[in-house]
Amino acid sequence: MLAIGRALAFGAHPDDVELQAGGTLAAWAARGVHVELACFTAGEKGSPDPGTDPAELGRVRRAEATAAAAALGAATPVHFLGAVDGELEVTMALRLAVARLVRTVRPDVVLGHDPWRRWLLHPDHRAAGTLTVDGVVAARDPLYKVPTGAPLWGSPDPSRSTGAPPRGSPDPSGGSFTPRPGPAGRRPGRRRRTARPRRGRRRGAAAPWPG
Ligand SMILES: [Zn+2]
Repeated sequence: MLAIGRALAFGAHPDDVELQAGGTLAAWAARGVHVELACFTAGEKGSPDPGTDPAELGRVRRAEATAAAAALGAATPVHFLGAVDGELEVTMALRLAVARLVRTVRPDVVLGHDPWRRWLLHPDHRAAGTLTVDGVVAARDPLYKVPTGAPLWGSPDPSRSTGAPPRGSPDPSGGSFTPRPGPAGRRPGRRRRTARPRRGRRRGAAAPWPG
């Protein structure tokens, strides 16, 4: 039995979550975990062809993200947060959008880019990681004006309050975000993760997300 029942994963662009954590999410979904995916942008600049129409590419990538979510066993549609590809910024509005999703989806685990990972090249990935972590904090705290009627949810991992990387991380650069599923039978709320909604001591490893 898995120790989690619900998971929510944030990526800067379509394909980020699928490439970095798709196997884990598919395995969780196959074992009954409710999985939801969110994208800060539609990835409309994600082409090497300068003649590409960004609006059309965005439509294609949105559709592909929905198809990928279905293939993984995740819920559809994917949550698109409406930021412009390549121009993602850490704003209060997007932080609250993350918090709204966390409060409404109410995940046991949140996955995303590691904003503290060294040499994380793409600025959208750095911003997405920061927004994800900051949004989890806003979902927890009562005075943030989160646009949802859903009640508070979660608390940040206290191990991250010092900036320390998770123990057991295989990433030699010293950080990661994505928790791996724990062994069967572990009680809920017992695994370590970067941004997680429940208090308690954390254990386990994590996997890096490339830049
Ligand atoms: Zn990306």
